[in-house]
Amino acid sequence: MPGQTVTRFAPSPTGHLHLGHAYSALFADACALKDGGRFLLRIEDIDRTRCRPEFVDAILEDLTWLGLRWEEPVRRQSEHFADYRAALDRLERQELLYPCFCTRADIQREIAAAGGAPHGPEGVLYPGTCRGLDAAERARRIAAGAPYALRLDVARAAARTGRLSWRDLDRGTIEAAPRAFGDVVLARKDVPASYHLAVTLDDHLQGVSLITRGEDLFAATDVQRLLQALLGLATPLYRHHRLLTDESGRRFAKRDRSLTLRSLREAGRTPDEVRRMAGF
Ligand code: GLU
Repeated sequence: MPGQTVTRFAPSPTGHLHLGHAYSALFADACALKDGGRFLLRIEDIDRTRCRPEFVDAILEDLTWLGLRWEEPVRRQSEHFADYRAALDRLERQELLYPCFCTRADIQREIAAAGGAPHGPEGVLYPGTCRGLDAAERARRIAAGAPYALRLDVARAAARTGRLSWRDLDRGTIEAAPRAFGDVVLARKDVPASYHLAVTLDDHLQGVSLITRGEDLFAATDVQRLLQALLGLATPLYRHHRLLTDESGRRFAKRDRSLTLRSLREAGRTPDEVRRMAGF
């Protein structure tokens, strides 16, 4: 149905879901339900070293226990590397990507030598070391088997698209400032994709019309808006919800075992109680 709201919950299976995840999933589901829309589930498992299949099973089980139902099939990012490759090819044809051979230590050395580097929303900005390598040097290193990531030349990309904005239903129209992130990685050395690339493409491919997620990802939307423009993808609406915290004001994290849905269930809490604990 055109105009129907489609939302999603997109956890990474690196641990058990906690109350903060429950809040996020229930929030997305409620936004879809409000106007008879659809609620999708996506497993963000591109990082094969941190993600584990048993956590995927646990996520499905815990969300079902909580009373959530989603539309099948569940999209698993690890099954779609060909889609991410095609998007990378498209950006490569636009000459917006460059190989980055730097290790973390190289980056730290470069920053120390420059006397520091500005910070972006994801930490210190990449100083651009490999952006200026010439084609012959790049080819030489690749031929020698040096591992490399692919970075987006953000200044060039932003110059190409011009000013961009996106709409947050709670905060209004936001002017995108993707340069604040520096040249983001779109394909990692160990994984042929990255969070920003996979999430942007999948939201489009799954027809998500309203992205709901924690406010910790508010700034990330600027980079994802830029990718949408470069790849000719639809721009959904957004809502960035508050993050649940414990009594001492700390954000829930996967390390807080006592507040996983699993441990609450084992302690005899009912789904209704857990929904209320999460604020629903
Ligand atoms: N997979 C991300 C996470 O678990 C969320 C992605 C998103 O909502 O954009 O933090």
